Amino acid sequence: MVFKCQEDSFLKEFTSKVIKCEETKEPIVEYGKVSKFEGYQVTLENTILFPAGGGQPHDIGWLNNTEVLQVLRKGDEALHFTREPLEVGTEVAQRIDWARRFDHMQQHSGQHLLSAILENEHNWPTTSWWLGAEESYVELDSTNVMESTLGIVEERCNELIRLAKPVTVKFCKANDPDLDEAHTRGLPKDCMDTIRVIRIADVDENMCCGTHVSNLSQLQTIKLLGIEPGKKGKSNLRFLVGNRVTNTLQRMLDREKALTALLKNEPTKHEELVSKLQKNLKITNKNLQNVLSELAEYEINKIKSANPKPKYVFMYKKEATPDFNRAICKGLEKEGLFLFLVSEEPDKPKEGQIIIQGPEEHCNALGQQITELLKGKGAFKNGKFQGKAGDLGGINKCKKLIDEYFNTQ
Ligand SMILES: [Zn+2]
Repeated sequence: MVFKCQEDSFLKEFTSKVIKCEETKEPIVEYGKVSKFEGYQVTLENTILFPAGGGQPHDIGWLNNTEVLQVLRKGDEALHFTREPLEVGTEVAQRIDWARRFDHMQQHSGQHLLSAILENEHNWPTTSWWLGAEESYVELDSTNVMESTLGIVEERCNELIRLAKPVTVKFCKANDPDLDEAHTRGLPKDCMDTIRVIRIADVDENMCCGTHVSNLSQLQTIKLLGIEPGKKGKSNLRFLVGNRVTNTLQRMLDREKALTALLKNEPTKHEELVSKLQKNLKITNKNLQNVLSELAEYEINKIKSANPKPKYVFMYKKEATPDFNRAICKGLEKEGLFLFLVSEEPDKPKEGQIIIQGPEEHCNALGQQITELLKGKGAFKNGKFQGKAGDLGGINKCKKLIDEYFNTQ
């Protein structure tokens, strides 16, 4: 069956009769993301809402005021997913989310144009394609696609867009001698009943069940984003068409503006400044490590030489690194002291690392209470607890607990 949306891709409103309405639990798939659904599948005499197919995602829209969340093709029927049932036999007004549909038309017709240029002029045939929520890509049957050629391909596509080549749809029978086997690229198996050929003037002819623009000028522009390794023996060429180019540029400008404010310098200086910052951070970290290692040595000596000997060691240092804590543990290992070390996670100050070490009797008496107070995760192993504290809010209670324990001994 040829749906109304395939006869006229620009039809935004249409009236049709409900012929079936059945309950369903089939999930909704939105740009590859699957979510649970419970509702109804409504079949109409005809539809302007495109069911997913040919790489193009489904439309969304309304039947009267009932939202259509997904449209799927099952054989000859288009199933409209709604949350409420619709009465069989009634006429319903169909409306379509035009912004979403036109975006899909731009990406899909853009893909036909891009695939045609890649195959005809560079011998890189397309094996499949993906239309994502933000970006799309064509999968090419090669791993030797040269980055340097992409500029030529992009310019050629944009030249044809400027020439405003017409895009037309031709309907054929399956045994039509006009049909060329080579033109089956990207044809989904469930679209075989009616053969539509999408023709871009003298550039390309391709079987496809999707909805397309009527003139290349409606694509506005194509931007290639880069080539990446794909499945075995394939490469994925990422691209944007039309409004997605301007929308993406706007998002990039917003990010650039935010960076300009943070770095307090113009965009041409960003790379240099970030590189300088990274270098400085590395040096600062190295210096901090040196200082901490000297501090660890100092702390160890102070505790060792204290007179009288402390009953326990409680050390809470925000900036302590795992290296610092390890050095303290090692340095005081033979002192037979109860040790409790706490440090904060650099990006999550409420969370931290804890180490408990010391004579078994003290660890047994205090260990569980401490880890409970700090929502600790980890286990005692060889008389030592090393793990994460989920909440350092209870640290003062810990300090009090340890203090009381040792001062009542
Ligand atoms: Zn197509």
